[in-house]
Amino acid sequence: MDWDEYAHWGKKIADWSAEYHKGLRDQPVRAQTAYGEIAAQLPKAPPEGGEQMEAIMADFEDIVMPGISHWQHPRFFAYFNSNAAAPSMLAELLVTTIAAQCMLWQTSPAATEVEGVMIDWLRQAMGLQEGYTGVIQDSASSATLSAVLTMRERALGYTGNQDGLNGKGNLRIYCSEQVHSSIDRACWVAGIGQANLVKIAGTGERFSMAADALQAAIDADRAAGHTPAGIIAITGGTGIGACDDLGAILRVAQAEDLYTHLDAAWAGAAMIVPEFQQDFWADVNGYDSIVFNPHKWLGANFDCSVQFLRDAQPQLNTLKIEPEYLKTTGETVVNYSEWTIPLGRRFRALKLWFLIRSYGLEGLRTRIRNHVLWAGELCDALRGLDGFEIVTEPILSLFSFRCPGDDDMQQRLVDAINDDGRIYITQGAFDGRKIIRFTVGQFDTTRDDVMMAHSVIEEVWETLS
Ligand SMILES: *Cc1c(COP(=O)(O)O)cnc(C)c1O
Repeated sequence: MDWDEYAHWGKKIADWSAEYHKGLRDQPVRAQTAYGEIAAQLPKAPPEGGEQMEAIMADFEDIVMPGISHWQHPRFFAYFNSNAAAPSMLAELLVTTIAAQCMLWQTSPAATEVEGVMIDWLRQAMGLQEGYTGVIQDSASSATLSAVLTMRERALGYTGNQDGLNGKGNLRIYCSEQVHSSIDRACWVAGIGQANLVKIAGTGERFSMAADALQAAIDADRAAGHTPAGIIAITGGTGIGACDDLGAILRVAQAEDLYTHLDAAWAGAAMIVPEFQQDFWADVNGYDSIVFNPHKWLGANFDCSVQFLRDAQPQLNTLKIEPEYLKTTGETVVNYSEWTIPLGRRFRALKLWFLIRSYGLEGLRTRIRNHVLWAGELCDALRGLDGFEIVTEPILSLFSFRCPGDDDMQQRLVDAINDDGRIYITQGAFDGRKIIRFTVGQFDTTRDDVMMAHSVIEEVWETLS
């Protein structure tokens, strides 16, 4: 393909993208295809000769698009939204065009410097003290793994990377039972082991781990000869939105000299709103590592996960490696690849720059406030449906409910709703029972989109009951 043909197709695809987004409300949200249906339409072997873009694009529309679940659909209420606001998509096109490898400052100075400034813009917007720096990672899972590795190395006096973990005893990490599975996996991969991830029950209105139970677990571990290494707190757990009492947990961590990581992958975006910051993050300052995903609620397209660090040095001591071919000369600069596990890195900060400038913080706050408001209104409407039960009240824009009947009935309702296609929701578990989760967070969703879920749920329920 030459660059003139690229320009021709680039324009076509930009037009296609806008039409796609404008037409989403008329599409079923979840793909309505059976397993294997898409693969069966592709040739078994790769073509020997080149093909025309016309043919490739036509197949994209005919074969691929029917198999897409529309994450940017305004009535996507499943999982957590993974947004792609238009300005960040445009930035992504530029990033793809430049295709710079931004591992070191010198491999694209602008990428490193814009990234540093975006981290600082968000630091201010989210109420973190001066002194916090950070890095953009691909996912919260990677940021959490970096933090868990740092906990491990700090607890071992930075000897684990060199000597391995044999004969080092049991390192222990503490979290609430409401954490995301990425915390378990980080402990697996870091060599800590599932058995050494101590989970504390969530209690109270926001299902927080109790500080006295945490303290008791640490005391028991020390008495048993184990080595406590760190605590992972959450703001906005995936299942039901659980939030830990950040101040109480931090006091335990400081008294015990433990490294702290806060997982706010979803809810972190809402911390740009002063009243939510006040409510959820009054005691956030002091956490050693904090992760939030602008690629969820804030509007940056995937992938873009911000990890804030109170002091970057422990993580650098854990992850920095400098073979000869990566050495740079001249003044000391930030090389972000030393802060993370992968060496290669994309220019993700440009998406944040375009997004934040285009909407301003106030434009982004308005969306998040509306989503929280509308989730509350819908929750109240569902409360009025005969026999329906609100299982967990809204935490920000996430709540859960049950229809009358057993666990199988909950799944039947979820499946029937998703087959209907007007909205998309998913199930979860709470207190040993199946629940139906509902979260509002799509960038273009309106109050009408959200309230429509009430009639869809009611209509589909009537066909089942
Ligand atoms: C989505 C989510 C994660 C995982 O995020 P990735 O970026 O996909 O790794 C972790 N924790 C919470 C609370 C989440 O909502």
